[in-house]
Amino acid sequence: MERLAALRQQLQAENREAILITNPINVAYLSGFTGTAGMLFITEDKAALMTDFRYLEQAAQQAPAYEVVDVAGDSWKRLAELLHTVGCSMLAVEADHLTVDTYNKINAAVDGITVQPIISPVVRLRAVKSAAEIAAIESAQKIADEAFTEILSIIKPGVRERDIALELEFIMRKKGASGLSFTMIVGSGSRSALPHGVASDKVVAAGDAVVLDFGCIVDGYCSDMTRTVFVSKVSDKQRRIYEFVLEAQQTALAGLRAGMSGREGDALARDVLVKAGLGDYFGHGLGHGVGREIHEAPRLSVSSQDTLQPKMVVTVEPGVYLPGEFGVRIEDMVVVEENGIRNLTASTKELICL
Ligand code: ZN
Ligand code: ZN
Repeated sequence: MERLAALRQQLQAENREAILITNPINVAYLSGFTGTAGMLFITEDKAALMTDFRYLEQAAQQAPAYEVVDVAGDSWKRLAELLHTVGCSMLAVEADHLTVDTYNKINAAVDGITVQPIISPVVRLRAVKSAAEIAAIESAQKIADEAFTEILSIIKPGVRERDIALELEFIMRKKGASGLSFTMIVGSGSRSALPHGVASDKVVAAGDAVVLDFGCIVDGYCSDMTRTVFVSKVSDKQRRIYEFVLEAQQTALAGLRAGMSGREGDALARDVLVKAGLGDYFGHGLGHGVGREIHEAPRLSVSSQDTLQPKMVVTVEPGVYLPGEFGVRIEDMVVVEENGIRNLTASTKELICL
């Protein structure tokens, strides 16, 4: 298996003898096993999927590259035995997933072995997508784009944010999505200035900006997009802010490419907004990786040390939020390429007034 080989390469480069993968998303990514109780024990020569009797058959079917180990009621005892069998003196664990309680239990069980909490190397592997993964993300985005076009006829004065969210979900599920990528954001009027304002009972009114941030899941992969539309009328201020946010986004889309750091990518859009005097109102990072999780590596932000690589899928989502007034965010999802990006989001960014 290619992914297992890539992980082993990373472990070798970092001089790690063994790793325990406990994050179920990473377990599924590496092995194909989708059960809710299972972990992977991986060394240079051993690849074991540890699970309980409920999943033994499923594990053997879904993860043929792994030796299925029945934990038989005591996962940590079984882990200690495995470590003993292979003769490891240290075990890396996923610090970005494990609870302190589990960490303590592992430590107590594997007496004499050094447990090393590390940021999971699988997170780095997952950041670079295969063609099949990109295809799934594209399918999820296509559904979101179609749903956006359809939802526009529903947004009008008198409609509750909650009903817009419900309708959007209904449309996406009817088109084949298995679920939402995250709790949808529908913020209208002054609520559009809440960067993460989930849909409420508020009724859309004439003159409102409406921020719609949503996505769906296809074949286990997420999509993510944001559009901001206006209802009945647009003030000069709303139009001006919209144009600055769009300019910031388009500057970033034109400048992003492989080799850039997450911080440099973020700066492409941030510089435009700072120059416009709006820097203080763009309080979040420019974007994030998207895949099995809605937020994953890499990050595009003022503090990001990540380096953009070809086949990473990231969002580009500058926003300006004027507290008590309104907010504007525009978000596309793109594939990073050697000399630029390929935009997966097709929805128009022309200012829409409904
Ligand atoms: Zn989003
Ligand atoms: Zn996003």
